Amino acid sequence: MEISFSRLDEDIARFTLKDATPAFANTFRRTMIGEVPTLAIEDVMIYDNNSALFDEILSHRLGLIPIKTDLSEYVRRSECSCGGEGCSSCQAIFTLSVEGPCMVHSGDLIPADPKATTVSTDIPVVKLGKDQKVVLEARAELNDGSEHAKWQSTLACGYKAYPVITIDDNCDACGNCVEECPRNVLKIGKKSVEIADGKLEDCSMCRLCEKACMASGIGDKPAISVKPDTERFIFVVESDGSLPVKDIMTSAFGIIKNKADSLVDVLNEISGAI
Ligand code: SF4
Ligand code: SF4
Ligand SMILES: [Zn+2]
Repeated sequence: MEISFSRLDEDIARFTLKDATPAFANTFRRTMIGEVPTLAIEDVMIYDNNSALFDEILSHRLGLIPIKTDLSEYVRRSECSCGGEGCSSCQAIFTLSVEGPCMVHSGDLIPADPKATTVSTDIPVVKLGKDQKVVLEARAELNDGSEHAKWQSTLACGYKAYPVITIDDNCDACGNCVEECPRNVLKIGKKSVEIADGKLEDCSMCRLCEKACMASGIGDKPAISVKPDTERFIFVVESDGSLPVKDIMTSAFGIIKNKADSLVDVLNEISGAI
């Protein structure tokens, strides 16, 4: 299996996964979305809230704020040596005290751990009028997207099969398919249609080019055909900023490997028991 990146930033990666099966590509996608842990606010102790929002709505909004997560610093509460009581290894504490009139933003959450800050300071939480006040303490903990979407570190995470476009000798370079292609993937060459430089991966496999070719009266079979490669996949992964996208990928691979190892152990146990 091989990965080649066409883009790798802190928050966005675009890459091709080669020599993989569709099942593995989908497992990788699902693991990145649902099983890579991240921090999110889970409990809120409200000392004062006379804003227009109920305590529950306010807590829900706080829970959705992405928090920068260092996976080497935090463990899940259920796996912590404190036995789940809550300590600096399994929870990140924030305090907030704001008096109106003003808009309360995510940046008003003051973190006890300077590394576990909110990803953005500009997310609006609640608008306070004159004499309105919010005072609270919030506790973030590590969990994953399979428990709740607030622990999902990916905003967008998807893939498509790599397009394979073949053009046969019957092509007379009439250009109908070029006109029809909504992604400008094709261009007229000297003797036949060609794939425009660097545009192949933009193909959505809509196959409008095949239909246009048939409509040109070419016969029973279009001169152009578009098929998905079943061993090559184009991925786009975007992080919400809580984890670098590279960490999301590495963590997902680790989770898949651990699961595969456990399966092998179980199968060995079963075959040994027979
Ligand atoms: S399948 Fe669609 S996007 Fe791809 S080359 Fe044909 S018309 Fe263009
Ligand atoms: S429509 Fe068919 S014949 Fe015309 S350029 Fe496209 S592939 Fe060639
Ligand atoms: Zn703990």
